[in-house]
Amino acid sequence: MAYIVDMRSDTVTKPTKAMKQAMVNSALGDDVYHEDPTVNALENKIATLLGKQAALFVPSGTMSNLIAIMVHCNKRGSEVIAGELSHIFRYEVGGAAHLAGVMLSNLPNEPDGTFDLKALERRFRGSDIHEPVTSLVAIENTHNVCGGKVLPLKWVDSLSELCQKHNIPIHMDGARLFNACEYLKESPARLVRDCASVSVCLSKGLAAPVGSALVGSYHFIEQARRVRKMLGGGMRQAGVLAAAAVVALDEVVPRLALDHKRAQVLAKVIEGLFLPSFKVDPASQHTNLVLVRIPGESSLTADRVVERLAQVSLSETQGDCKTPNDEGVILKVIQFDAKTIRFTLHVDITDEDLWLAIMKVTYVFKEMDAAAKSK
Ligand SMILES: *Cc1c(COP(=O)(O)O)cnc(C)c1O
Repeated sequence: MAYIVDMRSDTVTKPTKAMKQAMVNSALGDDVYHEDPTVNALENKIATLLGKQAALFVPSGTMSNLIAIMVHCNKRGSEVIAGELSHIFRYEVGGAAHLAGVMLSNLPNEPDGTFDLKALERRFRGSDIHEPVTSLVAIENTHNVCGGKVLPLKWVDSLSELCQKHNIPIHMDGARLFNACEYLKESPARLVRDCASVSVCLSKGLAAPVGSALVGSYHFIEQARRVRKMLGGGMRQAGVLAAAAVVALDEVVPRLALDHKRAQVLAKVIEGLFLPSFKVDPASQHTNLVLVRIPGESSLTADRVVERLAQVSLSETQGDCKTPNDEGVILKVIQFDAKTIRFTLHVDITDEDLWLAIMKVTYVFKEMDAAAKSK
């Protein structure tokens, strides 16, 4: 059997031993009655951590963002403005339109995950009878499609000022908020200071098995609790899941720096191969995601590279790319677009896994670059 290194996403992380222990020993109750002590503890812990009044444990990040949109935009036909590369716009199945009756308007994202604030201000509307009412601005931190970029704090502060002036709340999709905190060496409370609501994934890099937390004021969370029930997200003895998330906050958050370091190592190795077909930019890589881009002029496509990394060739097992058991390495990564591949570092990738991934990438990238050249 080939050795598998799974760098597709930080969602593939499995709960640690301590998490499983906590799950077995968790005190439970019916969370819809607000009687699950472990869920209550998690909600209090994360609200405090983010400097907000209250939190709600929800089944997924997608539901968390949708609930936020439904609470902030409780009039049908109102508008959310988000970046065109945001998860909310791209990867949440149009739930805002389908389920909330809310329209998503988008602004072009800059490569750093921000958008132009002057352009944003021109887009605010609602004073004219013909217009939908802009009711929310959504930002993403870290920004996934932009390669795990951390939004500059100064930009977030300027955005807040602008939104306050127009009385429009900000929702932060902070699926990887703790990665952003690690990079900036700032507290989560500081990063979300001016956001009316924040969604944080517990099951990505934090390695809890299931769930996200939605955080905001008492009043906001009270309404969010009703919406969660409506969407079918009222879970009963959810403490069995929350228990793992409590451990994740204590145990896994402090080690995120290691994922960032390893992502840098991987990017620098790829950069050091100097292959025309594969470009990385370690200097602008902030966190645990590594984007590899294939230049437009190359005949290679991301899907072929992803496929090749997941295969073991005969020559690899015959000593060209030695692995511990001589059966080769399968490296799982994902295609981001036709010319972009994403590698994700996470808690289940050890130093040995990283080393094996580096050997595999080096072998395959050289092979594919040479083949692309000879065409
Ligand atoms: C993963 C992710 C989500 C959604 O999380 P799910 O739990 O998979 O629904 C939302 N936003 C961003 C930026 C994400 O990366």
